[in-house]
Amino acid sequence: MRKGRFSQYGGQYAPETMMGALQELEREYRRWRNDPTFEAELAALLKNYAGRPSLLYYAEKMTRDLGGAKIYLKREDLNHTGSHKINNVLGQTLLAKKMGKTRVIAETGAGQHGVATATAAALMDMECEVFMGKEDTARQALNVYRMQLLGAKVHPVTSGTQTLKDAVNETMRAWVTRIADTHYVLGSVMGPHPFPTIVRDYQRIIGAEIKAQILAAEGKLPAAILACVGGGSNAIGAFYDFITDQSVRLIGCEAAGRGVDTAETAATIATGKVGIFHGMKSLFCQDDFGQIAPVYSISAGLDYPGIGPEHAMLWEKGRAEYVPVTDDEAVAAFEYLSRTEGIIPAIESAHAVAHAMTIAKEMTPEQIIVINLSGRGDKDVAAIARYKGVSLYE
Ligand SMILES: *Cc1c(COP(=O)(O)O)cnc(C)c1O
Repeated sequence: MRKGRFSQYGGQYAPETMMGALQELEREYRRWRNDPTFEAELAALLKNYAGRPSLLYYAEKMTRDLGGAKIYLKREDLNHTGSHKINNVLGQTLLAKKMGKTRVIAETGAGQHGVATATAAALMDMECEVFMGKEDTARQALNVYRMQLLGAKVHPVTSGTQTLKDAVNETMRAWVTRIADTHYVLGSVMGPHPFPTIVRDYQRIIGAEIKAQILAAEGKLPAAILACVGGGSNAIGAFYDFITDQSVRLIGCEAAGRGVDTAETAATIATGKVGIFHGMKSLFCQDDFGQIAPVYSISAGLDYPGIGPEHAMLWEKGRAEYVPVTDDEAVAAFEYLSRTEGIIPAIESAHAVAHAMTIAKEMTPEQIIVINLSGRGDKDVAAIARYKGVSLYE
């Protein structure tokens, strides 16, 4: 495989002004990757600060209720700051520190990645600035204040659709104007090489833990692992250590929004075409002229018009499956898991729960399903109430 390529996908389609920074990042990443001191420091942060390993929980009531496969939940929602994002952020911020950087910048959609980055920056004494679409700063005002409490500066982005893709553009632009002291903590398995590889390596711990935990609990591998897919970091993290285990189905759940046959969707595999955007070759939702299409999902974390290049490869090779899940199905699963197991999932994660509910019924009790619960749902409660027409604070 060529450097930074996943079959035809990936690569490094970056402006000249960014190339020096990307080359420095790759060099330093290689240098620290297998350094025992770095590994020990990161392992200690993940254990003592983020709370790893996260639980692999047997959802007994859900299993009994659906009457098919045995269902386990990988509880990334229990990590500090409430999602899988912290795994990658601790890795990249520690790397930035080793590189001698004193400032980190990040894009954020719903604010989960921004909050995680602001958190790591506070802990490791780094300056932090977060770029967030103006539309999203309004929708997620509480997360903006959370980042400010953590000492970060939040920049509302007013270009384009004022959402996540525009925040990525703006963060890339800000990076090239100040590379010497600044590291860009990219939040998913996307962007130009080496980001998709670095982020995957820092999220890989999810699947490594699942493997050890399921073997200890059941003495065998699961029949399927399900995860929601925005850029694809929690999914690739859960999948990676199982790629060579051909008996394990890997299922990514995309946000179909109001349906893949409408314009209000973010299902990249179902509706996208090959293109180049944000420094990588991959699949993107786009119009007939190749312009990136506006995307929509109830879930701000899945509201991205592309997918990480490694997923595009796994899909093309037929090693992983990708299915669209609508807003309605995700909201129903959000309510179902809350009521059945007493666990309120992130609306992103609810997309994976929804598809698991569909396939579990068609499977046998000897078969195991693992759902990666990428985050907790506290942040979504107000939006779900709005969706359901429930008025709060009467
Ligand atoms: C950000 C986020 C996602 C989507 O990002 P991926 O890179 O696709 O994992 C999913 N779930 C939660 C809880 C998130 O915060």
